[in-house]
Amino acid sequence: MIKRILLIFVILITLCSSVFADIQGKWFHPKFIRVYIQPDHYKGRLMTQAFREWSKLTKNKLIFQKVTSPKFADIEVEFVDKINPAQSNTDRAIGLTKTSTQSNRKLVHAKIWIAQKTHDDKVLSEDEVYTTMLHEIGHAIGLNHSQDPESVMYYGVNVIQEVSEEDLRLLKELYLW
Ligand SMILES: [Zn+2]
Repeated sequence: MIKRILLIFVILITLCSSVFADIQGKWFHPKFIRVYIQPDHYKGRLMTQAFREWSKLTKNKLIFQKVTSPKFADIEVEFVDKINPAQSNTDRAIGLTKTSTQSNRKLVHAKIWIAQKTHDDKVLSEDEVYTTMLHEIGHAIGLNHSQDPESVMYYGVNVIQEVSEEDLRLLKELYLW
């Protein structure tokens, strides 16, 4: 019997959980989003790169300004060994974003956690971490999960994900660009 492998990719790890999956907020000053990234961490450079990637893909319609204190931040990023399962609705999450919104879907704060390891102690590759960073920033700027496995907003992480045309179209719709 010939076995045919139908799957073109393997979902490695459940990526993250979005706590407010049904709320799609947006920043009212998208060209001045203040970001605090936990300093002195070797993943900080990669995180900065992920924010720059979103700016580049949106043709600088989203601009992230680094600040030196979480007090002044719109988006805060913290690196953790593992995601606390109590905070997440899946026990295999490797990234997490919690957003706060006011009325009119105005985003007022977002906190992103990026893990180094899965819950069963597998150290994540740089690619997995980078994809997770792009995904969590996607939530922090208002995107929900995508059903498309090739989108960076798909709930799982795999090797073929990138920010898709659809992700950018949804942002355009959300921000009325
Ligand atoms: Zn997610």
